[in-house]
Amino acid sequence: MTARVLIVDDLAPNVKLLQARLTAEYFEVITASSGLEALELCRADRCDIVLLDVMMPGMDGFEVCRRLKADPSTVHIPVVMVTALDQAADRVRGLDAGADDFLTKPVDEIALIARVRSLARIKVILDELRARANTSANLGISQAPPQSAADAGENGRILLVDDTASSASRIVAALRDLHDIDVESAPQEALFRAAEGAYDMVAVSLNLGEFDALRLCSQLRSLERTRALPILLIADLDERTRILRALDLGVNDYITRPIDHNELIARVRSQLRRKRYTDMLRDNLQAAMELAVVDPLTGLNNRRYLETHLASLLDQAAYKGRPLSLMALDIDHFKKVNDTYGHDVGDEVLAHFAQRMKRVVRDADLVCRMGGEEFVIVMPETPLAVAAKIAERVRAAIQSEQFHIDSFGRTIPVTTSIGIAERGADANADALLRRADKALYASKSSGRNRVTAAAA
Ligand code: GH3
Ligand code: MG
Ligand code: MG
Repeated sequence: MTARVLIVDDLAPNVKLLQARLTAEYFEVITASSGLEALELCRADRCDIVLLDVMMPGMDGFEVCRRLKADPSTVHIPVVMVTALDQAADRVRGLDAGADDFLTKPVDEIALIARVRSLARIKVILDELRARANTSANLGISQAPPQSAADAGENGRILLVDDTASSASRIVAALRDLHDIDVESAPQEALFRAAEGAYDMVAVSLNLGEFDALRLCSQLRSLERTRALPILLIADLDERTRILRALDLGVNDYITRPIDHNELIARVRSQLRRKRYTDMLRDNLQAAMELAVVDPLTGLNNRRYLETHLASLLDQAAYKGRPLSLMALDIDHFKKVNDTYGHDVGDEVLAHFAQRMKRVVRDADLVCRMGGEEFVIVMPETPLAVAAKIAERVRAAIQSEQFHIDSFGRTIPVTTSIGIAERGADANADALLRRADKALYASKSSGRNRVTAAAA
C-alpha cells in the first residue's frame, strides 16, 4: 500500500528523518516548511496523507489542521499530528482540531509506519467509495455523500479479547463510560463471538497465554462477517516485530502498555468514526444501486436494467450465433383485482406473481417488471420452440393455483397473457420487445390466458 505523504515541519532535520523512514517503506514524500505552504499543497490535491508538526512559527499545526478540516476540498485528507512526548494535552487538542491520528516525538519507527499505512489503506477505500457515490449522485440516483464522518465515535459495541483479568479490567474501566464493552477471556471463543455479536470493534491483547493472538487477527480478517471489523491491538513495547506482523495482517491500530487512558479513548473513537463513515458510504451506495435497477415491490430488476442488459445479451448472442428469446407478460383483468379488493391486495398479487414466475424459469433467465402488471422474461440460449414451452409452463403455473390474498385463507384466480419472440438476424432490443408485445396483444384479443408466438 503506497501513498504520497506530505511532511510539514519548520525544522529541516525533522523533515529529513521522517522522509528517510517513509521513503524506505516506499512511500512517496513531499515536504513543506510552513503551515501556509502545506495548505497550498493540500488544496492542489498533491498528497494523500499529512504529517503535521504542532510547533511551528506563524501558523501552528492546530490551526493548519483546523483549516484543512474546514475546507470541503481538503477535509477528506487524513492528518497525523506530531506532538512532543510530554505534551499529553496536545494530543487531545489535535484531535479536537480534527486530526485523524497523532504521533509523539521522537517518532517511533513502527508507530510511524503503522499510522501512515493504516491511513493510506483507509483512504484508498474511502476515495473509491466517495467517487462511486459522486457518480451515482451525478446520475441523479442518490444525494452527494458527506465528505467526512459527523459521528462522535461513541456508544460503540466493543469486544475485548484478553485473558489477563487485571489488564482487562483496566481497559474496561477506561472505556465503559463511553462504550458497551464485553470481555472474552477464551481466545477460541472470540472469533465466534466477533462474528455473531454485531460489534463495532475488537480489541485484542497480543499476549494470550498459549494462544497466538496473530492467528486470531488473521482469522478475523479472512472471515467474511468480520473482515470489515476494526481491530485494535494491545501490546507491550518490546514486541515490535509482532506488532509489525499484525499490521501486515490488517490490524488497524495498536496501543502499547502501560495504557494511557486518553490515548486509548482517542484511538477507539477514531476507529469507530472511520468504520461508521465507511459503512454509511457503503450502505448509501448499495441502496442507490438497488434503487436504480431493482423494483422494490417485487424485487425484480426494473425496465431501466432490462433495457441496458438486454442490449448486451443480444450482442453476446449475435456474436456467438446463439438463439435468444423473450417473453412479454401482462396480467389479465388486473384492474378488477384493484377495484374489488383494493390496491394493497393488488400489490400483494404482483409480488406473488413475480415469485411464481421466478420459480418456473431457469436462473439464467432474466425476469423484469416493466411497470404496472407488465413483465418481461429474457431467455438466453433459447430458440422460439423452447420458449413456447417455458411460456406455457409459466402460464399454467399462474393459473394452476389461486393466489392467497389475506390471512383468512381467501384466494382469487389470476391468469396472464403472454407473447414470445426470438431474436432475428438484425434484432435490436427495441424491435424484439415490440414483436413480443404485439404477440402479447394477440393473446389478449383472442381471449387472454394464452401464449402467442411472434412470427420470425
Ligand atoms: P387486461 O387484461 O387487458 O390487461 O386488463 P387489465 O385490467 O389488466 O389492464 P389495464 O391496463 O386496464 O389495467 C392495469 C391495472 O394495473 C391498472 C392499474 O391500476 C394497475 N396497476 C398498475 N401498477 C400497479 C401497482 O403497482 N400496484 C397495483 N396494485 N396496481 C397497479
Ligand atoms: Mg393487464
Ligand atoms: Mg397492462
